[in-house]
Amino acid sequence: MNFEALSFDSRIQAGIRDAGYTTPTPIQEQAMPLVLAGRDMLGLAQTGTGKTAAFMLPILQRLTTGPLRRTRALIIAPTRELAEQIHQTATVLGRHTRARSAAIYGGVGKGPQVAALKRGTEIIVACPGRLLDHIQAGDVDLSHVEVLVLDEGDRMLDMGFLPDIRRILKHVPAQRQTMLFSATMPSDIRSLADSILTDPATVQVDISAPAKTVSHALYPVPETLKAKLLHAMLEQTRTSRVLVFTRTKHRAKRLAQELDKRGYRVAALQGNLSQNRRQEAMDGFRQGKYDILVATDIAARGIDVNLISHVVNFDMPDTVDAYTHRIGRTGRAEATGEAVTFAVADDEVMVRDIERVLGKPIERRRLEGFDYGGFAPEHQKPLPKPSVYRSRSFRSNGRGGLPPQPGRRAS
Ligand code: AMP
Repeated sequence: MNFEALSFDSRIQAGIRDAGYTTPTPIQEQAMPLVLAGRDMLGLAQTGTGKTAAFMLPILQRLTTGPLRRTRALIIAPTRELAEQIHQTATVLGRHTRARSAAIYGGVGKGPQVAALKRGTEIIVACPGRLLDHIQAGDVDLSHVEVLVLDEGDRMLDMGFLPDIRRILKHVPAQRQTMLFSATMPSDIRSLADSILTDPATVQVDISAPAKTVSHALYPVPETLKAKLLHAMLEQTRTSRVLVFTRTKHRAKRLAQELDKRGYRVAALQGNLSQNRRQEAMDGFRQGKYDILVATDIAARGIDVNLISHVVNFDMPDTVDAYTHRIGRTGRAEATGEAVTFAVADDEVMVRDIERVLGKPIERRRLEGFDYGGFAPEHQKPLPKPSVYRSRSFRSNGRGGLPPQPGRRAS
């Protein structure tokens, strides 16, 4: 199938060309005809699949007819970065149409948002909290909403947004088209889907499994050597953009400072920064001012930067879901990427959980020429069935179990 087959308005086709899309991704191919036909949708899609355009293009098509300057599409997303990205997608794809989009999220002044809402906007892309503020202040009229999208539903629920979403739903007409997208399908997402969707079509692209275009590697390392190992890897490896995940805001900040001192072009993205600083870090990374972004899970949610060659889990994620989301930042839209995970002894249970979802063991590697000091993972109990292939970029000369992890919770 190609985009022409869907008979989008010529102004939208111009937007598709501007975005550089030539062939629909699998989720777009499955979802767009159903969404265009007005069906409710449950989209089980991991990050990087092209789901934003899968719902945005049909929304823009709908907006080519009917009244202007009233809000007819509402998209709710869990984080500011994701809301901003969806808004940018709407802006690019809809540039030749008359539809407008406004991004509504906290951490920035309300004034420009109120002004955009007053001028009239057909699309609102919002985070729940700030949208409720505007609803309470009477700044926004959702009584004409025809399409409601809840994006990254699982994360929204993880972040405790369910009560906010229920409150927002009271301001949106019951008669509407509703789409719920989620990478995973825990039971609370099922019940949310049951309560808000009517006879939904379900489209599924690789549920719960990380992107197939990403290769995975595990580096057993003691906690105390992690920073040195990262530095050695960056020295040895051909990378384009590298996204590094840490467990806490403090660790993100500190690691970014350390890398900065070593002369890397690096920024931190973590929740303690002002919205302006976060945006500056994101934009700088996207535009190539920074080669490395050190981020926490929440801050990095939904980051969409092409050419991320490596995702490094400097700290193991807390859930398999978080692993899926993190490494979904590389290997996007069919490009290939590498997911590198530093693992200490306490991470063993999580490693097994991740391997279960991947359906295969993750390759254990040691970085050639790196001074592991006294640490010798070969002498530790090996994890089950490590694979043995050699990597093109991070070379390996051994494999084995995970090292002890002094003071993991101390930082
Ligand atoms: P998403 O899953 O919506 O965050 O999209 C992931 C990435 O794929 C973004 O960089 C999109 O711009 C890109 N993308 C979406 N649809 C297409 C397409 N049909 N062809 C090429 N790239 C696409």
